[in-house]
Amino acid sequence: MVELSEEQIKALQAKLQQIAGLPPEEQNKKAMEMLSPEEIEFLKSQQQGGGQCIFCRIAKGEVPAKTIYEDANFLAFLDINPASPGHTLFITKEHVQILPQLSDELGAEALNIIKKLATAVFEGTNAQGINIMQNNGSVAGQAVPHIHFHIIPRFEDDKLKLDWDPIKLSDEQFNEVQKRISEKAKDIGKKVVYDMSGKMIEEKKTKKEEPKKPEEMPRVRRRRA
Ligand code: 5GP
Ligand code: ZN
Repeated sequence: MVELSEEQIKALQAKLQQIAGLPPEEQNKKAMEMLSPEEIEFLKSQQQGGGQCIFCRIAKGEVPAKTIYEDANFLAFLDINPASPGHTLFITKEHVQILPQLSDELGAEALNIIKKLATAVFEGTNAQGINIMQNNGSVAGQAVPHIHFHIIPRFEDDKLKLDWDPIKLSDEQFNEVQKRISEKAKDIGKKVVYDMSGKMIEEKKTKKEEPKKPEEMPRVRRRRA
């Protein structure tokens, strides 16, 4: 198995960040140009749940953890350095590094389970509130490069600090950043349909269901007063 030093991992992370900033269709080609064979081997071993990833090892039962929930795709366990009693981590068993890399199917399933786990944490700890936190990338505070959601119970006067000092943006800056992100977000709801040969045959926006008009509603017999 390929092992990289901390320095080499940092260098690799810098390259991956650079690659992630490119349009998706250019990423593969650039990765082949920029990454050394050792780095590619290392990434493969990570994707297959290689020995270095602590959460893969927990998922495989090689490292003990205080399990809260487990199914074929996911695991939830107590954080070893909790922010509050009941601080739970929810992970995919598959080694996925950050949220954008998670498949749509697992993403949808994950949110459904997180919702139910949040309820269990609420009820199991008598929390008055809950924060769900999910860090992507080391600059965002992600220490373990395996996707995880923090479910953190909150209590009156727990003195936990998760807030930030707001920055000031001018109207132009708001407009500019809105334009840039909404441009990237415009196809999110697009539904693409393929025929049997794999050719795209239909492309339509998913749309919200319109509220039914009164005449379309099923008739309900009025009870006599
Ligand atoms: P991050 O900073 O990456 O969002 O959070 C990683 C979390 O994983 C931290 O809160 C840390 O305490 C927790 N963690 C790291 N290693 C282990 C471990 O071996 N076992 C458990 N249960 N939690 C861990
Ligand atoms: Zn992993």
